[in-house]
Amino acid sequence: MNTKVKADFQNLEVTNRELLPELEAAAARVLRSGRYINGPEVATLENELCALCGARFCVAVSTGLDALRLIFRGYMELGLLKKGDEVIIPANTFIASFLAVTDCGLTAVPADVDPLTFGLDFSRLPLSEKTRAVLAVHLYGSPCWNREVFSDLHSKGILIIEDNAQAIGALSADEGFHGSRSTGNLADASAISFYPTKNVGAFGDAGAVLTNDSELATIVRQLANYGSKEKYLHTLCGLNCRMDEMQAALIGVKLPMLPKIIQERNRRARLYNGLITNPEVAKPAQIPGALQVWHQYVVRHPRRDALRRHLAEGGVTTEIHYPVACHRQECYAGNPGLKLYGPLPMAERLAEEILSLPIADATDGEIRRISRLINEFHTTQ
Ligand SMILES: *Cc1c(COP(=O)(O)O)cnc(C)c1O
Repeated sequence: MNTKVKADFQNLEVTNRELLPELEAAAARVLRSGRYINGPEVATLENELCALCGARFCVAVSTGLDALRLIFRGYMELGLLKKGDEVIIPANTFIASFLAVTDCGLTAVPADVDPLTFGLDFSRLPLSEKTRAVLAVHLYGSPCWNREVFSDLHSKGILIIEDNAQAIGALSADEGFHGSRSTGNLADASAISFYPTKNVGAFGDAGAVLTNDSELATIVRQLANYGSKEKYLHTLCGLNCRMDEMQAALIGVKLPMLPKIIQERNRRARLYNGLITNPEVAKPAQIPGALQVWHQYVVRHPRRDALRRHLAEGGVTTEIHYPVACHRQECYAGNPGLKLYGPLPMAERLAEEILSLPIADATDGEIRRISRLINEFHTTQ
């Protein structure tokens, strides 16, 4: 029957193998420097991230979730957001997008998603008089952008914040507010994550905030550093959300590889697109004019669990991003931090149908065998 396949979803040892000598050199440099916090490695990385996205300011922080929290806290400190204001978020995202909002005392309003882009369904945004921000999540590495809709909201004073955790290096089809097409620099502020499995993964947790707004950048830096601008003087009740020198140095080794990583992931996505011919499987859309970075390659099937089992029997590990839509998570059961304006049929359907195939370090041979297994799967089985 099946040719036996052994394909891991992602093996970080494989992902990082090629750069090991450079990574070891960078780690040794930091170990010997005697400087582990707020040093030159972080400053250099911040400049590189600004250059990559074309944004004016970058604050390197501890995690992607903290990057998002600090953006919302920063806007609250600046008086642009206040407790109870509504923030629209696509319901099919990693829980961090929601946690950042509700942790700040803002109200998370889940929105339904577009089954082609997996991003916000722009025709059905749950707007109300209390809407003060939209969190655009570039899920799976595909830009979530609609210039017309966002420009219109922006002109009404609604902030547009990007969750760029999965899409570093992606380009939208259309320019953002600053004339740039880079995700992370399309709107008011954005968050990156360097969680180890992300396209540029650290060796622990790390994240970053990008913005063109100097006031927001200043306040985010201050909040991330105990609310202090000057040592031992605390003007805000801040946090400790700093990126450390070790992570900055290691990320700095991986960042120059990003164009190659994006190129490789696009090649693998095209390979899957060409090889998967099972008519019951919906393949992910290529957005015309955009550069997607394929953090995940996600297919849909009405009997997803059976397809997943079929692949597992063939030795292929798959994942589901994400099996439960955020508004259905137990942490939000009866939680006043969440406001639902109506049913979200597509987000709930996707949670039942989506399946992420190996792409991070899958070889061409593995992709061929995985595609063959998918093509031989029929619902009559
Ligand atoms: C990974 C991720 C985050 C959170 O980043 P961490 O660095 O893990 O805190 C936020 N949003 C999305 C969409 C993510 O994929």
